[in-house]
Amino acid sequence: MARRPFIAGNWKLNLGPNAAAELAVALRTALGGRTDVDIAVFPTTLSIAAVQAVLADSRIEVGIQELEPHTSGAWTGTSSPVMAREAGCTRCLIGHSERRQHYGETDQGVNLKVKAALAAGILPIVCVGETLAERDANLQDEVVTRQVVAALEGVPADQISTITIAYEPVWAIGTGRTASPEQAQEVHATIRKVLTRYGDWVAEAVRIQYGGSVTPATAASLLSQPDIDGALVGGAALKADAFTGIIAWAR
Ligand code: PEP
Repeated sequence: MARRPFIAGNWKLNLGPNAAAELAVALRTALGGRTDVDIAVFPTTLSIAAVQAVLADSRIEVGIQELEPHTSGAWTGTSSPVMAREAGCTRCLIGHSERRQHYGETDQGVNLKVKAALAAGILPIVCVGETLAERDANLQDEVVTRQVVAALEGVPADQISTITIAYEPVWAIGTGRTASPEQAQEVHATIRKVLTRYGDWVAEAVRIQYGGSVTPATAASLLSQPDIDGALVGGAALKADAFTGIIAWAR
C-alpha cells in the first residue's frame, strides 16, 4: 500500500503571532498547489489562532505542540484536546524528546495524551527516539520498541492506523547531525515490525516520519527510504524556502 507522504514543521518556541502569520502566508502561497502530500505546521500555542486565520481554507493543517489529557477544569497553564480541536487544530505532537527531557514526560503520560487526543478527534504524531548514550550502547531498537508499545497501550487498531510515529534520534535534534538514511531506515523498519503486533494492515497504514536536522540537502535520500514516509522538521521549518525545499522531495 502506498502511504501518502506527510511533512510536518515543529516551530517550537519560535514565531509569535505576527511572524507566524507571515510564515503561514508564505507557505500558503508556495505550497497551495501540492495535493499529493500532507503538510502540517505546529506553531507555539499563542500563535495558533493567527496561523489558523491564514491557513483555515488551505490544505496545510495546523496542529498543537503539547496537550493535556484533561478536557477542562483546575489544570492551570495547559491546553485540552477538545479546546485545541475547537481552535481548528487537527493534529498534535506527543512525547517530543524536549518534553521528555525538560518536562518529565513519561511513556505512560504519552499514552494518556494519545487516548485523549484521539477521543477529541485530534491525530497524534507520537515522537520516539534514543539518546546518544542509548545509541552508543546499541539500544535504539529496544528504546523505540518500548516507547511505541507504551504509547499505543489500549488503543484500538483502527485508531492506531490514523496515528503518525516520528522517529527522532535525540542526538540528531537541533544538532545539525542527521542520522544516515541507512541508520534511519533500520529503525523505521523496526518500528514497522513492532506495528505488526496490531495487525499487518495497521503496520502498512501507519506513517513513520523521520526527524532530526532534516534540510533540503538531506531530505531526498532520507525520504527515498522504503519505510520513511515523511519528516518532522524543526529548524528548517522556520524558513519558507527550506521547508518547501524539503517538501519538494516528498513524493
Ligand atoms: C524536532 O524538534 O522535532 C526536530 C526534528 O528539530 P530539528 O529539525 O531542528 O532537528
